[in-house]
Amino acid sequence: SDTLLKVENLKKYFTIKNNQTVKSVDDISIEIKRGETFGLVGESGSGKSTLGKTIVGLQDPTEGRMFYNGADLSTLGRKEKAIANREMQIIFQDPHASLNPRMRVGDIIAEGIDAHGLAKGKERQERVYDLLERVGLRPEHARRYPHEFSGGQRQRIGIARALAVNPKFIVADEPISALDVSIQAQVINLLEDLREQEGLTYLFIAHDLGMVKHISDRIGVMYLGKMMELATSDDLFAEPLHPYTTALMSAIPVAKPGAAKRERIVLKGDPPSPVNPPSGCRFRTRCPHAMSICAEAIPAFREVQPEHWVACHLYNERNYT
Ligand code: SF4
Ligand code: MG
Repeated sequence: SDTLLKVENLKKYFTIKNNQTVKSVDDISIEIKRGETFGLVGESGSGKSTLGKTIVGLQDPTEGRMFYNGADLSTLGRKEKAIANREMQIIFQDPHASLNPRMRVGDIIAEGIDAHGLAKGKERQERVYDLLERVGLRPEHARRYPHEFSGGQRQRIGIARALAVNPKFIVADEPISALDVSIQAQVINLLEDLREQEGLTYLFIAHDLGMVKHISDRIGVMYLGKMMELATSDDLFAEPLHPYTTALMSAIPVAKPGAAKRERIVLKGDPPSPVNPPSGCRFRTRCPHAMSICAEAIPAFREVQPEHWVACHLYNERNYT
């Protein structure tokens, strides 16, 4: 099948002080197709990083199921589990925090090679050199330490570390957000090239739509732990349906001279706390279109056009068919 990863009714809850529950990821279902880049967008606190980390197995889900290559990840045997762990990798936002400052770059890159017993000695070294070159660095960089590199180069090291174990699926958790704007496009281009060369599939997480527009085949928009809208990148930009998506889109500067200016929609206030999210639609406290039903019922996530899903009462059966 062309589905590489399927997430079914996934929940990830955290218990914090006073026994309160944070519903970071609350009943999310998505399918990621082989070879695609799935962009995942939302403000901080929307649960997008939590979803990414849960998918690659850095934390266990509270509820729900995940299928990789058709196999239920929770019921895999030890050997299959190890393969899935190797094939699913993550690149982090902050290349400073995610690279051990006391380790040489070559050893950082080889961590996964060692852990999975993929190569030793000379072969291991050759692999590290090759990986450095594939991400635009040089073999002699293997002997240096992370602090000797710029932010963009450190992110390349993080990418080489992920690539070292021959992954099939990579969660890129805001890989360019901490980088200078001038460097961002280079790292995006590198990720794009690697996707083609290695046949990779990406879950690409970002906090704004502009960053994922050009690289994503499909885009999901999250808000307070819920998926609000999901569509192909083209459809989402041509016809955003959810009021939250429309607001996010209005914040993207229009690049083309002479293009019609979008009216900027300024949302009221900050996102509410995920500890006690609003009843009904979680977006209702900031939504310019909120109706009485929005406080009473959680809007269903419905496919209202082919491959275009939205969770909003404006598009329920009665109003929109
Ligand atoms: Fe706005 Fe209601 Fe739609 Fe939520 S369900 S986005 S509050 S109109
Ligand atoms: Mg994050």
